[in-house]
Amino acid sequence: MAFDIEMIEKVYANLDAKVNAARKIVNKPLSLTEKILYAHLWESASEAYGRGKSYVDFAPDRVAMQDATAQMALLQFMQAGRAKVAVPSTAHCDHLIQAKEGANADLVTANSQNKEVYDFLASVSNKYGIGFWKPGAGIIHQVVLENYAFPGGMMIGTDSHTVNAGGLGMIAIGVGGADACDVMAGLPWELKFPKLIGIKLTGKLSGWTSAKDVILKVAGILTVKGGTGAIVEYFGEGALSLSCTGKGTICNMGAEIGATTSIFGYDKKMAAYLRGTERADVADLADKVAHHLTGDAEVYANPENYFDELIEIDLSTLEPQINGPFTPDLAWPISKFAAAVKENNWPAKLEVGLIGSCTNSSYEDISRAASIAQQAVDKHLQAKSEYTITPGSEQVRYTVDRDGYLATFAAMGGVVLANACGPCIGQWARHGAEKQERNSIITSFNRNFAKRADGNPNTFAFVASPEIVTALAIAGDLTFNPLTDTLTNAKGEQVKLDEPKGIELPIKGFAVQDAGYQAPAADGSKVTVLVAENSSRLQLLAPFAAWEKQDIKGLKLLIKAKGKCTTDHISMAGPWLKFRGHLDNISNNMLIGAINFFNDTADTVKNQLTGEYGAVPATQRAYKAAGIGSIVVGDENYGEGSSREHAAMEPRHLGVRAILVKSFARIHETNLKKQGMLALTFANNADYDKILEDDTFDINGLNEFAPGKQLSICLNHANGSKETIMVNHTYNQQQIEWFKAGGALNIIRASVN
Ligand code: SF4
Repeated sequence: MAFDIEMIEKVYANLDAKVNAARKIVNKPLSLTEKILYAHLWESASEAYGRGKSYVDFAPDRVAMQDATAQMALLQFMQAGRAKVAVPSTAHCDHLIQAKEGANADLVTANSQNKEVYDFLASVSNKYGIGFWKPGAGIIHQVVLENYAFPGGMMIGTDSHTVNAGGLGMIAIGVGGADACDVMAGLPWELKFPKLIGIKLTGKLSGWTSAKDVILKVAGILTVKGGTGAIVEYFGEGALSLSCTGKGTICNMGAEIGATTSIFGYDKKMAAYLRGTERADVADLADKVAHHLTGDAEVYANPENYFDELIEIDLSTLEPQINGPFTPDLAWPISKFAAAVKENNWPAKLEVGLIGSCTNSSYEDISRAASIAQQAVDKHLQAKSEYTITPGSEQVRYTVDRDGYLATFAAMGGVVLANACGPCIGQWARHGAEKQERNSIITSFNRNFAKRADGNPNTFAFVASPEIVTALAIAGDLTFNPLTDTLTNAKGEQVKLDEPKGIELPIKGFAVQDAGYQAPAADGSKVTVLVAENSSRLQLLAPFAAWEKQDIKGLKLLIKAKGKCTTDHISMAGPWLKFRGHLDNISNNMLIGAINFFNDTADTVKNQLTGEYGAVPATQRAYKAAGIGSIVVGDENYGEGSSREHAAMEPRHLGVRAILVKSFARIHETNLKKQGMLALTFANNADYDKILEDDTFDINGLNEFAPGKQLSICLNHANGSKETIMVNHTYNQQQIEWFKAGGALNIIRASVN
């Protein structure tokens, strides 16, 4: 699939010089994480280190995008004026396919319901040199692992489980569409230099325990916040014994502990996986630089001296875990789980077991689960729960079908769903979910927050390995422990399930008839990007206007937001997500979740032109129609939460000129700057109280806009009085240029043309 061997050669050719330069500056042995980070610095190691390892610019090797988030990323990229993406990139159609009847029927429905989105993504990919994976080709992270991830590389992806590629030794990080757009356009990517968490694995897995149980255990230890701001590095003899895809599972669920990403060092298992997935040339190259693709020996010998936090797990004594309900960090060893179910009065009857997803759909996973399913057939056990299988890619699906595993699942009553996210992202038209009955399900997915799978807040979702999910689905009972308990079969006999057996890589090799890949045109200049004229889901973007080279006067107060104002308050998700490729339509959700300071109500603000109260987007549209700009005032940590760029683009699109707050969440602040907005903070937080509902604002000092220099704002109160307040900003010179040009993309376009 054109995995860019030349790019990998280039990365490896520079590794030696870059790692050694970093080692000299840092003057200590290096972990694997540090080696890869230093090897991907945009600037020199001395510059980055000199700034105290704070926010650092990196040069990722690759970009991967899933269909929901790719839309705005690519619409923005089109604004950059480039003929092709600056780094190898791919788009994957996986999130928009609803699971209902089974793979074939669901794919037909998705192709018709999402046709315009798929047509757009296929054509824009074709034009700009982006690899396109069609609906049904598979889930982004599994496809990336099978085709693109490589040891020592750095990738960003517009999905939080991009981190899956750490299983193949890559620093892979989930980002918002704006970051993806920047990197595709040839700009650096900024990341706060992370803390390091080391996890030493000793011993070896056996019996019912699998790689999934390692991360379920880690989630129990670190909780959903424990990895925040950190990269987790796994090492030790136990790590070497895990399959490459098992490592992928562990890294995948690193997102559930909030980690920036997770990583394993290059080893024989990774080499075998690369060779097994037709990438022997990558394995050959990696073998030559293997010493740079793992941490220095001194680091692993004395990890307590080199990691900010250290955890040790003995795989030999690790029990299978079941995590949940409603949060992935509530970890129960299986020996204690039945008692927990009873004590907490969770519904013990298991309705559905679901295996697969991007987390656990490797050949090894499927073969181990199938070994349990086969026993159900052989031992005359009837599965008591419904059971579904979501293959991670067409390549895995085709291969496990060829090798008879899908037939085994079918014999047990299993239903194979499309190679897509489906139930994992709420795209599950589950029969009866609307009744909102209390019920239990168990999955081998990664997230189990309320409503995530079927929209029912009363579905108790638990997470476990595919083999444990399969065993419990056969039992139909959450309190069943396959390690110790027996089941009654159709003949009335007591039977016990044997330990699962699996195969890491298919003995006959992987096979696939149509992997679902579309290579981009060699010359995309004649390719037309398809956007239906009256589409409600997609809209081509127009460049934002440049700054008018004078102070901005006469801005009306749109809203003075009170308390928490996350990107969800600014640009709500849920039903609005279908408009994420249509800036004007999605702008109808702008700030509708923010609480108006003056009436403690959401989505009701005063229109200063009429004196009437109305919805925030409608009020702003009225200002825009009258050619009047506006300002949004906010509280602390404005824009925290998801990095979605719509929260910055919508105000820009509707004519808000500045956001003035007590403090910003950093990513949102950067997103505002990229869109050419003014992101300002009160020099004196008490000035927040001076803002009145009928105020008009003049922003002064813009002709002398400079890094570190305050601006002033004149508050023109309705009673005719005026007050001047000072405001701070964090713009550097380059970001000031973004503001002046009307947005970062305008600068890129000017430099390309
Ligand atoms: S399978 Fe689930 S976790 Fe994986 S990419 Fe899809 S929605 Fe995200």
